[in-house]
Amino acid sequence: MIQDIEPRIFNNAFKNKKAEPHDLFLAYDGDTVLVREDKEKLWYPSFADFKEEYPELPDESQFLFSIDDINYYLVEKKGLDTVPGWSYVTTNRFRTELKYWRSFAGVVGWQLNRWYENHRFCSRCSKELVHSQKERMLYCKACGFQVYPVISPCVIVGVYNGDKLLLTKYAGRAYRRFALIAGFAEIGETLEQTVHREVQEEVGLKVKNLQFYKSQPWPFTDTLLVGIFAELDGEDTITIQEDELSLAVWVPREDIPPAESNISLTSEMMEAFRKGLV
Ligand SMILES: [Zn+2]
Repeated sequence: MIQDIEPRIFNNAFKNKKAEPHDLFLAYDGDTVLVREDKEKLWYPSFADFKEEYPELPDESQFLFSIDDINYYLVEKKGLDTVPGWSYVTTNRFRTELKYWRSFAGVVGWQLNRWYENHRFCSRCSKELVHSQKERMLYCKACGFQVYPVISPCVIVGVYNGDKLLLTKYAGRAYRRFALIAGFAEIGETLEQTVHREVQEEVGLKVKNLQFYKSQPWPFTDTLLVGIFAELDGEDTITIQEDELSLAVWVPREDIPPAESNISLTSEMMEAFRKGLV
């Protein structure tokens, strides 16, 4: 999965540290990221690469995280593709970059960039927010309001009936491959209750024997995915919720299409069932 970057180590501990020339930075403009593309790999800029044209960038940057001994910073300045060799490419490239440490760094940075961009002012008293020097937190000097990065928990449910897995396709989305039942936890709900509610709502089925599989940070949508397998309980007739799904079918293990990519928990869960691992 995209976060599996071993033997490299992702460390998101906050550092109050000024950027050095050899440190890397991530710069976004909407759904694009500044990179140099070479041999189908994404390369991120260092401050040294931009020293001549933009000497002020280290002072305007925000520490994000490190991978091994490489520090990553966020630069909010736009229009940096004036420097030869560098261009903004779609963040969908994070889904196809095969070196996961590159795509994971890029997508985590993108989530943090959205968080910083979307929290300029206090939502309680409307004064400007300032950056904490101790942790990844924004706060309001006027009223004391504090803002931390938002992560929304979401379940991915592999519903099975003997040797068949329930596969779905979403309605009205660009993503056309098979998926599993998925949905956000509501306020006041346990993840187990989310599973029962989402399965009931999306396909009209009951489930039992919930088993935690794995979890996955999914920075594309600010979510923490929780993968759970659940056994059908009783009647197997599917009633699909048409505004959510265009298709939901029971697929025998041997007919499940092999995964085209293994960046997501959903594809890993389908693959694990297909191979008889669960
Ligand atoms: Zn305030």
